[in-house]
Amino acid sequence: MKVFKFGGASVKDIAGVRNLAEIVKKQGRDAVVIVSAMGKTTNALEGLVKAYIHQQANEIDTQLEDIRDYHKGIMSELAGDFSVVHQTFTHLENYLKLPINNVLYDEVYDQIVSLGEVLSTQIIAAYLTHTGILAHWLDARQLIRTDTTFREGRVDWDTTNRRIRDAITKNDLYVTQGFIGQSADNRTTTLGREGSDYTAAIFAYCLNAESVTIWKDVPGVLNADPKWFDETVLLEKLTYQDAIELAYYGATVIHPKTIKPLQNKGIPLYVRSFLKPDASGTVIGNYERHLLIPSFIFKVNQVLISLHPNDFSFIAEDNLSRIFGRFAQAGVKINLMQNTAISFSVVVDNNPDRVPTLLGLLKQDFRVSYNDGLELITIRYYDQGTIDRVLPNKKLLLEQKSRYTVQLVVKDLG
Ligand code: ASP
Ligand code: MG
Repeated sequence: MKVFKFGGASVKDIAGVRNLAEIVKKQGRDAVVIVSAMGKTTNALEGLVKAYIHQQANEIDTQLEDIRDYHKGIMSELAGDFSVVHQTFTHLENYLKLPINNVLYDEVYDQIVSLGEVLSTQIIAAYLTHTGILAHWLDARQLIRTDTTFREGRVDWDTTNRRIRDAITKNDLYVTQGFIGQSADNRTTTLGREGSDYTAAIFAYCLNAESVTIWKDVPGVLNADPKWFDETVLLEKLTYQDAIELAYYGATVIHPKTIKPLQNKGIPLYVRSFLKPDASGTVIGNYERHLLIPSFIFKVNQVLISLHPNDFSFIAEDNLSRIFGRFAQAGVKINLMQNTAISFSVVVDNNPDRVPTLLGLLKQDFRVSYNDGLELITIRYYDQGTIDRVLPNKKLLLEQKSRYTVQLVVKDLG
């Protein structure tokens, strides 16, 4: 059994859905196909959540119609029995009419945003079946059990393992949703943005799959994002360790949680181009040799937060545990941290939904200063030459080196 994962960009239009069918026909009849929401649907659904929470009736209507039109446009050129898709829209419409009573934002978010994946897989399964490729549609909410950490559900591996093994018993083709799950009390959860890769890893782990393939719009894992770098190199083979490190530091090609479960079972992970499905792309596995060339990861829109205890105490265990508690409470992930005797500095993504709350919490105990509009550059397998290569026209605010990795916090001087 193989596991295939198709992201939103791969199924953003009619040609994309047809291309998925071609790839599956050639290489994956005995496979679990994990699909994300089509194109930018997740972002559109996030907009709908906001409109619903603020009870903006006109906004709800227009945004819902846009989402519906987009999916209708895709179905219009594809044959298949799409009646379930219309039922999902009716369900969404009814949900949006419900009054909001004391429900938490993150929970509402998951109930609405999860439907993007439901819609995409319903369309794809119907189309595949119509073209003669029998596809069993599975509801991932019935299979992936999580806790109730909405928007970042933590997987209950025992229950999930049992359910996936019970549901997938034949060497057939199955189609299911990435990114979504359900709590023990039957409330839908999501696994965090871009979490469909992680879903693919969960299925592969539970099924002892022979491999996982993530089909992307890039040729494989590159040593830098072509958005920031002219000359990029395709990394043909990557150790799990290198892949984890690159993903952890922000290489967006693979979701960071994806690799560990695969490493535990030694399941190879292929990253290949859905535009050139015959090219071999990157394979991640148990290799002896780590990378021989440097990789670069850029994160923009970073904020450097510096904390000084109000009571002139040192930055020691008690302060640190308080600081980490605040970050966890605000749901903000730390990209880099550094401390001196009397100050503690962290770099985080400047997320307008979370950072202001975090700053408020930190100000209860600390004098807080911050510097925004920064970039975080990580170089794995660096040397001085590679550092010099990224620094022209940047002011270096903070640098942290370990044996293989350097991280640079910089301000672009324009
Ligand atoms: N559709 C979700 C997102 O865009 C999950 C995913 O694409 O992996 O974040
Ligand atoms: Mg997506």
